[in-house]
Amino acid sequence: MTAIDRRGRDLPLDTHLHTDLSPDSDVPIDVFARQAVELGIAEIAITDHVDFQPGAPAFQHTTFAQRERVVREAAERWADHGVAIRFGVELTYERSWESAIRDHLAHNAYDFTIGSWHEPVDSVYAPRRVAAWVAGKSLSEIVAPAFTEVIAAARSGLFDAIGHIDVVKRYLHPHVPADRLGAAPELYEPILQAIVDGGSALEVNTSGLRHAVGEAYPSPAIVSMFRSMGGRAVTIGSDAHRERHFAWALQDGYDAVTHAGFEALAFRRGGTRVAVAATSTPNAVAGRSL
Ligand SMILES: [Zn+2]
Ligand SMILES: [Zn+2]
Repeated sequence: MTAIDRRGRDLPLDTHLHTDLSPDSDVPIDVFARQAVELGIAEIAITDHVDFQPGAPAFQHTTFAQRERVVREAAERWADHGVAIRFGVELTYERSWESAIRDHLAHNAYDFTIGSWHEPVDSVYAPRRVAAWVAGKSLSEIVAPAFTEVIAAARSGLFDAIGHIDVVKRYLHPHVPADRLGAAPELYEPILQAIVDGGSALEVNTSGLRHAVGEAYPSPAIVSMFRSMGGRAVTIGSDAHRERHFAWALQDGYDAVTHAGFEALAFRRGGTRVAVAATSTPNAVAGRSL
């Protein structure tokens, strides 16, 4: 059986990718670059994990210098082949590590930064604990450990984008179906307000479309809600950790943001903030040879 190829094509930007410099990816950077050229994705941000909690998978997994060298050298190798490669990072946010993150960002310059809540070591959402965690609790109580951190990440003002704001859906499935959260948009309001106030972009992370939850983090309805609350900045990322997931369902992400009324994606190339048109590009690399 052949799997359906859901990879996006001829799109200007994928801002969330993990190479083998992340502990949970096995993809050499050139594999993503080659696919970007083949699929007509004009620009990509490499956003390998950096964790601050001792014992977390990406705690001191690499050095800044190593990641910067690998990405900058690849950017040079591929610059003439039709893909621009930016040096980004996905920083795991928790309030306990905020000063360490602030210090890291003060001393290390990235093109683009994502701040994300991830399951901490010994999370209440771990497979062996999640059923007991949700039992007898309100939806608000269930999501609180995750959403509280996401709100704080947005309020910190530290990041260009806030990653996969409701990835907790992945850990709650199937104990709490995603549509139960979708039916409670008021739970999202403090997150979206914090993003509006803090000035980061809301990331539409399409990895949920390949997970059992079957919808992006967040869903298109939440992207529209963000817009109606005054949200002005969005990004879109496939969050690929495997070769076959490069640009996965990216078109769905673009559809969600344009349907919500956004005409551009908010991105940063180091010192330069740019608005990237949120529409398909006429095959940006047509005719270019590898
Ligand atoms: Zn993440
Ligand atoms: Zn990621």
